[in-house]
Amino acid sequence: MPTLRTLRNIGIAAHVDAGKTTTTERILYYTGIKHKIGEVHEGAATMDYMAQEQERGITITAAATSTEWECEILQPDGAIKKETIQINIIDTPGHIDFTVEVERSLRVLDGMIGVFCAVGGVEPQSETVWRQADKYSVPRICFINKMDRMGADFFGVISEIEGKLGADALPIQLPIGKEDDFSGIIDLVNNCALFWDEEDKGLTMRTEEIPAPMKAIAAEYREKLIQRLALEDDALFEKMEEAPESITREEIISTLRKGTIAMSFLPVMCGSSLRNKGVQPLLSAVGQYLPSPEDLPDVAGMDVDTEEPITRKHSEKDPFAALCFKIATDPTSRRTIAFLRVYSGKLRAGEQVYNVRTKKRERISQFIKIHADKKEALQEVTAGDICGVTGSKILKTGDTICSEADKIAFEKMTFPEPVMGIVIEPQKKTDLDKLSNALSKLLGEDPTLHVEVNHETKQTILKGMGELHLDIIIDRIRREFDVELNQGKPQVAYREALTATVEHREVHKKQSGGRGQFADIKFIIGPKTEETEEKGLLFINKVTGGNIPSEYIPSVKNGFEMSMKEGTTGYPIEDMQVTLLDGSFHPVDSDCLSFDLVARKGARKSFKEAKPILLEPIMEVEVTAPEGHTGKVTGDLNKRRGFIRNIERKKNTEIIKAEVPLSELFGYTSTIRSITSGRAAAIRTFLAYKPVPPHIAEAIKEENNN
Ligand code: GDP
Repeated sequence: MPTLRTLRNIGIAAHVDAGKTTTTERILYYTGIKHKIGEVHEGAATMDYMAQEQERGITITAAATSTEWECEILQPDGAIKKETIQINIIDTPGHIDFTVEVERSLRVLDGMIGVFCAVGGVEPQSETVWRQADKYSVPRICFINKMDRMGADFFGVISEIEGKLGADALPIQLPIGKEDDFSGIIDLVNNCALFWDEEDKGLTMRTEEIPAPMKAIAAEYREKLIQRLALEDDALFEKMEEAPESITREEIISTLRKGTIAMSFLPVMCGSSLRNKGVQPLLSAVGQYLPSPEDLPDVAGMDVDTEEPITRKHSEKDPFAALCFKIATDPTSRRTIAFLRVYSGKLRAGEQVYNVRTKKRERISQFIKIHADKKEALQEVTAGDICGVTGSKILKTGDTICSEADKIAFEKMTFPEPVMGIVIEPQKKTDLDKLSNALSKLLGEDPTLHVEVNHETKQTILKGMGELHLDIIIDRIRREFDVELNQGKPQVAYREALTATVEHREVHKKQSGGRGQFADIKFIIGPKTEETEEKGLLFINKVTGGNIPSEYIPSVKNGFEMSMKEGTTGYPIEDMQVTLLDGSFHPVDSDCLSFDLVARKGARKSFKEAKPILLEPIMEVEVTAPEGHTGKVTGDLNKRRGFIRNIERKKNTEIIKAEVPLSELFGYTSTIRSITSGRAAAIRTFLAYKPVPPHIAEAIKEENNN
């Protein structure tokens, strides 16, 4: 059984192609779980278990894999001893369309390995992941991979890490040789050189004396390392001043650990995963420098009853609480697996927990731990664990489950709104049930996916984060659920906003024969007067003297809310403010329905007076192109109504940052390839909703009316 102290929950973050999959593979190989090294280009990697991931060569689903490693780690008494650590690797997807998944997994990680390519350095996308890791305060170590490649530049990447990511990069290793001559690594902490045998895929690691030609540079960098560490620790500082030779290995490792966890600096290592060099020291560094749950601050949450902020200790002595961070479908059994991070307490299989979202009790019948090639059933899970739960139909991403006697809700996860939709229908009418089953499974897995039914056309619209996201979902419906679909063209999810504030009075009256309907309201409607965090309707009730009985007020609010969904041209209004001023009622004819209807009618009429405008999603586009292509790229972006924000030169490449409406970006990936002969890469992230220029808005509305 691992103790909290020997547990490491980590993620591996990297730019696509930096070598995350290969590094993970080597980790699983050396930790003894996987016996054959799967090569990515053969599509056999263990972590990328979904079919399209192998085809597309990207990791989409964040799966969690557990493994063990024996290494020397710091003891509570300051000594250093060999111990077996348990490493749970939570896979962080590298593709930009899935940044939400990255954020989701970052929440439950305690530490991270940042993998960089020794040639490519800090690519735009690594910056995105880095900023997210900063947001969740995840301590990191860094691995500069591909030292064997032509153009590898260890110190160049280090200065990029400092310049672009603002980290204080601290080399704790140096490469011996580079490109074809990359032969081993100097370990500055232990003051030795490490080499690997080629014959057994690097399984044998030899420790040798630092080669003579490198002694001087090794001494220089070891001194730099100790000087930097001395700034973190007063006792070490004094020793360095007075008797530097008496500084012990224990002191170096413990100060490195302290500074890494406090994120004062970033230890930098190097290697070549493909050539089987440098992976074992990386694993040991996970044990030595990255935090165990014991090193972390208490977890913040909210008391469910009082809504007051409360915290939980990472301890099995506190009441049970866990967060569900991922729902996935087991590719072999087709069963749903919910992944949990247990923060406090313990729970045995078969016991009941309280689900904060559903406000219901649920029995958790089976816990599993996933290794690279097998699943293991667990009888009990305790604080710090990452585990899977099978057989739950209720658990959703973002759910907190906890002991009913001590309820806590962990901070809600917020997900961006979908920006693109596509109409889908099964090719065979008989597949309708199968489709709805598929959709409900996929919606449970992916909180950024939405399904809407258009009231007028009765069409089903699948909404998501972009073309690739929707493509993958449709592909999965086909493959995994065996439903062939007809699909429309992907469409941008427009919205509306009111720009003027108006006063309006609306009377709803139906009083001819039998029981009638009557409702009368006077209100002010317009954009919100103050920015609020929450989107939606801000409803202020100023009715006095019982002019509208209080039981009808929620119906008025509901009427406005419903009318927001339709907007004036079928696109939803995302934000508005309504102040209900006054009104009247009829003692017999008024009821909830009448007040709901009068609000809808009043809203529809007043929207027109409140000068509605159309909003469109704007994407931040970052194009990395080799020198000499900037003119073509910016020319094309200008044609797409793009606003060029910045052009930055880096070595022989240029990075063009622009803001471009999503509606102008259909097929952009292939255009950028063709205008730069495949030499440029573009990534896009959602930025904000902004007004559509009036002449384009007219055209969209017209098209919508036809
Ligand atoms: P990921 O996209 O970050 O998961 O990267 P992969 O692990 O899939 O690696 C991308 C490509 O780089 C593959 O063709 C790997 O074989 C190759 N690769 C990975 N590590 C190294 C390395 O250390 N040296 C070299 N030369 N190639 C590598």
